[in-house]
Amino acid sequence: MEYLNQLNKEQYKAVTTNSKRVLVASSAGSGKTKVLTTRIKYLLDNGVSPNEIIAFTFTKRAAKEMIYRLNNKFNNIYTFHSYSYKMLLNAKDELGFNKFDSIRIVTEEYELYILNEIINDLNIKYSPKSLMQFITKRKNNLEYKFKTTDEARIYNQVYYKFQEYMMQRGEIDFDDMISLFLNNIDNISFKDSILNQCKYILVDEFQDTNQIQYELLKKLSSKYNNLFCVGDINQLIYSFRSSDVRIINEFKDSADEIIYLNQNYRCASNILEKANNLIKHNHNLQSDIYSNINPKFKVIYHELPDTSYQAWEVASTIKRFIEKGNYKPNEIAVLFRNNYQSTEIEYELKRNNIPFIAYGKLKFFKIASTRRMIALYQFLDNPSDYILLLQALQIDDIFYDLIIKRIKSTNKSPLDIIIEMNISDISTKAQAIKELLTIISKYDRKQLFESLLEILFNNPTDKELEYLRALKDIMINSQLKTNKEILDNILLSDDEDINEMGVNLITIHRAKGLEFKCVFIISVNDKIIPQSLKNEDDIKEERRLLYVAMTRAKEYLYLSSAEYHIIHGMRKRLNPSIFVNELNWTGFCLFECFTKLCIFDRIVLEVIKNDNWNYIQQIEIVEI
Ligand code: ATP
Ligand code: MG
Repeated sequence: MEYLNQLNKEQYKAVTTNSKRVLVASSAGSGKTKVLTTRIKYLLDNGVSPNEIIAFTFTKRAAKEMIYRLNNKFNNIYTFHSYSYKMLLNAKDELGFNKFDSIRIVTEEYELYILNEIINDLNIKYSPKSLMQFITKRKNNLEYKFKTTDEARIYNQVYYKFQEYMMQRGEIDFDDMISLFLNNIDNISFKDSILNQCKYILVDEFQDTNQIQYELLKKLSSKYNNLFCVGDINQLIYSFRSSDVRIINEFKDSADEIIYLNQNYRCASNILEKANNLIKHNHNLQSDIYSNINPKFKVIYHELPDTSYQAWEVASTIKRFIEKGNYKPNEIAVLFRNNYQSTEIEYELKRNNIPFIAYGKLKFFKIASTRRMIALYQFLDNPSDYILLLQALQIDDIFYDLIIKRIKSTNKSPLDIIIEMNISDISTKAQAIKELLTIISKYDRKQLFESLLEILFNNPTDKELEYLRALKDIMINSQLKTNKEILDNILLSDDEDINEMGVNLITIHRAKGLEFKCVFIISVNDKIIPQSLKNEDDIKEERRLLYVAMTRAKEYLYLSSAEYHIIHGMRKRLNPSIFVNELNWTGFCLFECFTKLCIFDRIVLEVIKNDNWNYIQQIEIVEI
């Protein structure tokens, strides 16, 4: 077991411990994930069967990466959602889904249509959107502020009806997956074999576990009580999905052994120092973490005039790095607070012919048009399901009255009814839909797509087209056989495969656990990070978010703020983030003045940077 020699003393202790409930609590880059994967290897080498070990991570991508690190010899690594869904499918018949081939995962948009039906049935006047918000909160044990007691009563009534409706239709959403499995685990006939598979449970990113997930862990570990969790309270960034520091503290209190790792093997020492400067303002530094990695570059912060300038500067710096051979594109990441911020960077990278991958961009179910397309594909598998059709076609009231009422009052399939109908006297949209449905009835995946583009999306935007084409490619080229399998896979996957070639454009939330040699964090401005200054707890969470972002960097870290941003189509002036000063800059002022002098004349700055780049680097290094 030579691999054990690579570990430091504390890591070794964690990997080989015989304690049952173990918390490895330590800061970023200290080898928590490494310890977790090495422990799996160690357990396997000591005769534990792979069927007795299960590991949880936060994203499918992290799971894939861990499976890869374990040379594909072990693949019981799941997200809480994917595990619960798998178990629900195994127990489908026992749980009352026996009428269905499978359990269908549905999107929020679809649920809004269901809510519309319920609103009609109950004859109430509430907006489906606010009802949906309530239902989501209720499923996640979060508080919802009702305006009146009447509202509370009706919302709860709708909730039960909604769940009943979903159950009758063999459907669940993301919020149901874990709770449904958890609530039924005691009734599942093969519960024992589930628990036997959980002889050793290992959890990465434990700080972001929420209450329901923690309850699930308690249940799964109830037989053997072996629970090995690694986490860092300074990286808790999912409070909005109800992760809570009380959970890690509760586990800590019940742990047999707590191990702290205090050496960071990822970040150069100056990067770690800046990150530590920042996070100490949250007053809960877990341990003195240090790094022995010598800096190659100074940590850089630039105040820039606007976001397009920022995009230009980031892309030109990346270009220079690649041309000089400093970094390959896939060793570089650009991190941002919100998804929309990547657009300008994408544009500049494209202009410079630099390959990139925008993570989360292919989150199909986040885009309305692809959700409609998905609904349509689902409809093909379930041709009697007119709700899917409603969603796909975005059917308006007139059309609803003309067609859907007829569907409801006969036994015929929606498709047949519409195709048989003479609708020459109704709207052109309805005619177009009829045309579309005729194509659907013949069903050719390729032809269907092209017709859809014309009919459903009159004038698709470039972005819509990009998504829809990507979805089509998956539908046509997938190795999976049925539509259903392909769609479930799309809906369950939180990100795509790692692109081996491109610069990574990625939100900070999704960058958790990852590392890159070269990291750019853009728009470090107030109202962006932190998003608001109202609440001290929120500011702390945002500080942790910036800490996560900074600690992704191994060698080169660049932060920038931009004075002008376009937000909701309006040009807005934003201050640099309050966090910038917390990083403790020395010798920074001159460079700041220097940038500011040049700031209004892009060309001047460009000339200086291109012709005299070394000089600028020197100023930064000399720390005048
Ligand atoms: P995060 O909190 O960001 O998830 P982490 O604590 O999980 O970080 P890892 O990703 O496991 O940290 O490790 C960070 C880097 O340090 C990885 O590249 C890992 O291979 C390396 N590393 C960890 N421990 C050692 C060690 N003992 N010797 C050499 N490299 C190590
Ligand atoms: Mg990790």
